[in-house]
Formats: sequence, structure tokens, C-alpha cells
Amino acid sequence: TIGMLALDEDGRISGACTTSGMGYKMPGRVGDSPIIGAGLFVDGQVGGATATGSGELVMKTLGSFLVVELMRSGMSPDRACEEAVRRIAKKIPDYQSHQIGYIALNTKGEYGSFCIQPGFNYAVKTAEQTELIEAEAWLK
Ligand code: ASP
Repeated sequence: TIGMLALDEDGRISGACTTSGMGYKMPGRVGDSPIIGAGLFVDGQVGGATATGSGELVMKTLGSFLVVELMRSGMSPDRACEEAVRRIAKKIPDYQSHQIGYIALNTKGEYGSFCIQPGFNYAVKTAEQTELIEAEAWLK
């Protein structure tokens, strides 16, 4: 998945995601990316989140919606992404054999991420900064 979140100078937030799908997928599989709330969710009052990885797990937990709702309740983008990953870990016994990565951005311009396996990177571009960041991972 390629997921993007953007905030303009007037505080308007937007997001998009696109997927390459899964190898050896069942015919007709849709995946999480086109499901609003799963692979992507944006609320102009709060912020946005997008996911990559095993889409079935993201769909079962409505992961991007969950991240945004956690930010609405006051959580930072980093911690909201971490909690969404932990919810998956509680529900899915073999979560260690999957990768899920979330990124999130709130309307204050704070951003964060969390993933299951190390090796998930994302890019941040602002007027002052262009940076590739390695997401914090559940498994070390
Ligand atoms: N999340 C995608 C899917 O399950 C896979 C990916 O591109 O990361 O379809």
C-alpha cells in the first residue's frame, strides 16, 4: 500500500491510499485499502490515518478509524497507531507472522507511526523538513 496524509496551511487535512493487493489472493478479494475506516480514514476535525500490510487484520479492527478515534480522545498519533497494532495483537494469535504499519497525522501537524515488524519506513515533507523515518515496531 502507498498511503498519504496531507495537511495544508489552513489546517485542511486529506488522505489517499492505493494498494498492489496481495500475492496469491482469492479471486475477488478487495483488501482494506478501498474500505473507508480500514485502510484509510480522515476526519477534518481530528486527523487521518492509513494502513499497510495484511489487510484482513486491518479490516477486522477497522484500524484507521480506530487510530483517528483514539486521536480524537487525546492520544498522540504515535500512541494511537501503537494501540491499533496492540488491538490486532490481542485478537489475532499469529499476528507475529504478519506486518501491519499505520501512519497518522492530526490537524495540529503532529504525526506518528507504529508497526508489527521492523522495517516499515515513511517519509515526512514539510517546508523545513524532508525525512525518511523508520517506524517504531512491536517486535524487535
Ligand atoms: N493492505 C493491502 C491489502 O491487504 C496490501 C498492501 O499493499 O500493503 O490489500
